[in-house]
Amino acid sequence: KVILGLESSCDETAAAVVTSDRRVLAHRLAGQEAAHRPYGGVVPEIAARAHVEALIPLVEGALADAGLTLDQIDAVAATAGPGLIGGVMVGLVTGKALAHAAGKPLVAVNHLEGHALSPRLSDPDLDFPYLLLLVSGGHCQLLLVEGVARYRRLATTIDDAAGEAFDKSAKVLGLGFPGGPAVERAAALGRDVVPLPRPLKGSAEPHFSFAGLKSAVVRAHDSGRWSVEDIAASFQAAVVDCLIDRTIRALAHADAATALVVAGGVAANQAVRGSLSALASANGLRFVAPPLWLCTDNAAMIGWAGAERFAAGLTDPLDMPARPRWPLDPAAEAVRGAGV
Ligand code: ATP
Ligand code: MG
Ligand code: FE
Repeated sequence: KVILGLESSCDETAAAVVTSDRRVLAHRLAGQEAAHRPYGGVVPEIAARAHVEALIPLVEGALADAGLTLDQIDAVAATAGPGLIGGVMVGLVTGKALAHAAGKPLVAVNHLEGHALSPRLSDPDLDFPYLLLLVSGGHCQLLLVEGVARYRRLATTIDDAAGEAFDKSAKVLGLGFPGGPAVERAAALGRDVVPLPRPLKGSAEPHFSFAGLKSAVVRAHDSGRWSVEDIAASFQAAVVDCLIDRTIRALAHADAATALVVAGGVAANQAVRGSLSALASANGLRFVAPPLWLCTDNAAMIGWAGAERFAAGLTDPLDMPARPRWPLDPAAEAVRGAGV
């Protein structure tokens, strides 16, 4: 089967054509960094307008790259949430219109399911169940992925997401936007010498916390005692330390998992990948991380999640609403009102 995937939940507009036998026939992406940079973060209204302008040309381009017409697509998969509501609506409405015009089914994809299943696009040997560290701009969760549409959340953040911590720290350090790659580059030039906290490390509860770490970065920067590079290196080491500690705790509750998997934008970070890979080996588990382009937002992962859902018989009606909030594991308890 051939699936057209659309993504527009944050500040990347993207279209891709993916097959159910894991071929990415085309993927096109338009970032909006330049439009948001003057504001130091994503401005929802600017994002929504940019999605409107970019999406249809990207769809046309992706279909042309794949050498296919809309009639030759078997289903249209579009992100239906969670994310910035204006952007999500642009992609979902476009997906509905294309599905209707082509007379093909719509698959409404949870953006987080796109991240969660993306490692199965790049690795044909990755079977369920697996322990997933989902680390992105808006989320930091440990999930037992039991199957398509079957997620058990073992941990989430009680305040900031890991990517959010990278972005906020980058802003404090004057490294610009988007912050993750900038912090990683600066960290490569610095040393882990600044004493920074590891929130919730060793805690009996399963969750993550990063707000205190960001505050400590502010204090370290204000003190004038350390270079930006040393603070970046120390910050990155602290984040990695927390991610590893919490993942070790989750492993004790995920006996069935055959692989340790990381996905989401922060999974593009080499220190994060390296440490998790070592942790997996130490535990006799396979380690799977998607290639970097599949970690940050893209439409191939949405097309792939669409292919997996389509194969499972999961399609959606054309009146499917956009969902700004949409937890992968609705049964998981709310954590201090944060980080679903
Ligand atoms: P969500 O998926 O939770 O809705 P999002 O879609 O905005 O959020 P992603 O595109 O998956 O998030 O990831 C973007 C985040 O990843 C940003 O916070 C960015 O700073 C971070 N990031 C990207 N590359 C790196 C890197 N090399 N090191 C650390 N963080 C990174
Ligand atoms: Mg982005
Ligand atoms: Fe994302």
